[in-house]
Parts: sequence; structure tokens; C-alpha cells
Amino acid sequence: MTATGTLTDPTDLEAIRRGLAALDPEGRLAPLGIGRIEISDTAHLHVAEALDEALAAAGRPSRATVVILADTTPIRRDGELLAGLVERQLAGHHAVQLARLDGGHGALHADETVLAMAAEAARGADAIVTIGSGTMTDVGKIAAERNGGIPHVAVQTAASVDGFTDNVSVILRNGVKRTVPSRWPSAVLADVTTIAGAPQEMNTAGFGEAISLFTAPADWYLSFLLGLDHTFHPASLAMLQAAAAEPPDWSAGIARGEPRAVRELTRLLALRGIVSGVSNTTACLSGVEHVISHMLDLHHAAHHQPIGLHGAQVGVASLVATRLWREAIDTRVITPALLREPEPARIEGLIRQAFGQLGDGIVAECLRDAEAKHAAVIRNWARFEQVVADWPRHAEAFAKLVTPSATLRKALAASGGPASFQRLSPAISPELTVWATRNCFLMRNRFNLVDLLDMMGLWTEERIAWALAETLEAA
Ligand SMILES: [Zn+2]
Repeated sequence: MTATGTLTDPTDLEAIRRGLAALDPEGRLAPLGIGRIEISDTAHLHVAEALDEALAAAGRPSRATVVILADTTPIRRDGELLAGLVERQLAGHHAVQLARLDGGHGALHADETVLAMAAEAARGADAIVTIGSGTMTDVGKIAAERNGGIPHVAVQTAASVDGFTDNVSVILRNGVKRTVPSRWPSAVLADVTTIAGAPQEMNTAGFGEAISLFTAPADWYLSFLLGLDHTFHPASLAMLQAAAAEPPDWSAGIARGEPRAVRELTRLLALRGIVSGVSNTTACLSGVEHVISHMLDLHHAAHHQPIGLHGAQVGVASLVATRLWREAIDTRVITPALLREPEPARIEGLIRQAFGQLGDGIVAECLRDAEAKHAAVIRNWARFEQVVADWPRHAEAFAKLVTPSATLRKALAASGGPASFQRLSPAISPELTVWATRNCFLMRNRFNLVDLLDMMGLWTEERIAWALAETLEAA
């Protein structure tokens, strides 16, 4: 560890604060507002301690009124009900009330009904303790926010998403997922024993999401170099590079709930949450692989079909993204002679062709995003020429952000999660996979490597087939 602090241990928050402060002298990053992150086999035993710290830090009474929020699924730790274990720790010292939230959908949705229910349950309380996965934690953050920012201790019970350790919540608004600002939890206690017993597809989906850390930051950095992203910060880049320097070769056994793999996964997801939280953006962890996943969601939603697990989709799509990125890094495919200003009429044609079957609303939205993206590209054209001319030098920086695809593929397969589109649930057909990949740069106004390849005439059917070669199984 250096004097400024390591950036790769999410449980050493002081070191991360020091490390970030050294790289952010102007204080542009959001302050890291979590008091404690614990990732261990016995983290659940420290709820009382974490709560006492959070109450003291907030100037609240040490004997407090505490609301425990959980959903209706009984979560067990080694056979015992976790809510009971937590409640017993607090009951002697605090006035404790357990509120089980039921939005009437089976699985908890972070819709306004549930958010209002949670905020009401916590009214007048000094603190909130949530027990659950990502949705429960996101609900707890908002309930704490709506009650004047009271302390919130999150007991993490699955490693399905990276949203435990950040300052935003993913909520459902009119049936659509939205990321909204909320607040950092005061403490996150990730109990590895409980997480290891979570449904295996949750943890393997978490690993899929996690591995986008080994490719997505390159899209973010590219977008910054081209003048198109204003969320970029060198401290965030340093943290992502430090995390990407250690390949996820520990993934074997995630599906079987092996503690070492589950602990490493939880740590990686926690780091991701911290980076996006302090960076005030998810862009640093969302690139080509995320738009491919969003394309699948778009298709399924438009056809009223079930939407697959985000992380599982992102994991498979990360293998596609890293293949394309490593080609751009390791070969001479990106050359100045190929760079052409994009033609809006051609892009419009592609959007109508790709999305026409999904409805006019989607086409209109994509056209709006494409127009904004085109205008930004034209404004920054000089930077495009510079970056492409200087590509070999930039490739060295990209290489530090993108793990070779074979390494990621091995890690994803070892995790026990789906490593091909057909193995996702619902299974994605080869035709749908090609559609989602080919057209992924036509949705959203963010710029990524596929936009650049398309501008250079390199986004051909041959390259798409090559990019998908290892994630589509032969029929
Ligand atoms: Zn994601």
C-alpha cells in the first residue's frame, strides 16, 4: 500500500479516500459517503456496531428507534432467519420494528408504491436497517433520504448488482427502470455466508455485471478523448485501471456458492459502486456490452416478453466488447485513412430499418439521440482526427483497461454463469443476437467503440460475425 492509499480494497475506505483525494486536489469527485464496508463470513454480527457508529456520526441518540426493512422472502443464513439474527442483536439496546414490504408483485419492485410504503414505515425512526439484495437496498436509500437522511445500515444478502455501495437507486417509473440520485448507505455489511446461499443465478449475474469492469472503461475513456464525455476524471480512471490490473481468475465456484469466490465477487462489485458513486456517473462502467444488453431488453419489452437478468446479459456481451476492443488495441485496424464524417441520412436509414418493427416511439427516440450524437461528433471533429492519428499511443492506455477476451471468457465460464447468448434465460436466438449487436450503436447518445468502427466502414457483417463467434454456439 502506498502512502496515498490503495484504490482496490473496498473495505479500507480511509485508504480509498486518501488515494482519491491525492488524485483529485480540486475536489471535483463526490465525497465517498459510506462509513463502513465489511465483506466477511460474519459481517451480519456487526449490525449493532455499525449502527452505533452511524448514529454517533449523525448526532442521533445512542438508544434509537430502528426500523428493519425487508421484503417478504425469508432470507436464511446457515438455516437461520437472517432478520431474526439482526433483530436480536439490536433489540436489547434499541426500540426495533421489523417491516416486511409487500408491493403485491411477489419479488419486490422499487416502484412508487413500495418506496412510499418504505418511507412511511421509517417515519419517525432514527435509523433504517435493510436486509436484502439490490432492490431492497435501493428502497432503503430512498426511505432514508425521504426521512431527512437518517442513518441506513444495509445488510447485503446477494451479489447480484453493484448498487449496494453507491449513492443512487434504480427504481421503476411507469414500468421503466431509471437510475435516480438517492444517498450513500451509512454502512454496508456483506455477509458472505448469506450471499453464498443466495440463488445461484443472482450471484452469477453479479459476476456478469462485474466483468464489464474489464472492458467498459475503455469506451468511457474513448468518449472522453474524443471530447464527447464530460464525466471523466483521472482519479476514477486510476481506480478502474487498478481494479482491471487484477484479472478475475477467482470466479470458479460462484455458482456453487464457494466463499472465496463469493467474497472476491462482492469486493469487485463494491469497488464498482464506489467508482460510479464518486464519479457521479454510470458511464465509466457502461460501454458496448451494456448497449447490447439494453437492445435485448428493448426487444423483449416491445414484444411483451420477459426481460432477462441484466448482469447475465452484460456478462456475455462483455465477451463481445472485449474481443472488439482487443482487436482495436492489438492490431492496426483503426487507421486515419478510414476515418469519414458520419452521414446523418445513412444513420437515419439504419435506425428505421433496425427499430421500425418496434414502434414509432422507439424510432423517434433513437433518431433524437442520433442527432445529438452527430452534432457532438461534428463539433469535436478535430479531436477525432487527432485521436485516430495518435491511436498507437492511446492503445497503450486502452490496453490497461481491457482484459484479453480469452481471459474473460474463461472467467465467465468458470463462474458457472451463462457464457453464450443461447444459454441466457430467456435464451437469445442467433438472429436476435446479431440484431442486438449490429444495431447497438444506434440507441442512446453515448459514443463507444462500435460508433468509431462504423464511421470507419469497419462495422461489417463479417466483423460482427467474428465478434460473436465465441458467444454464439453452433446450431
Ligand atoms: Zn450494469
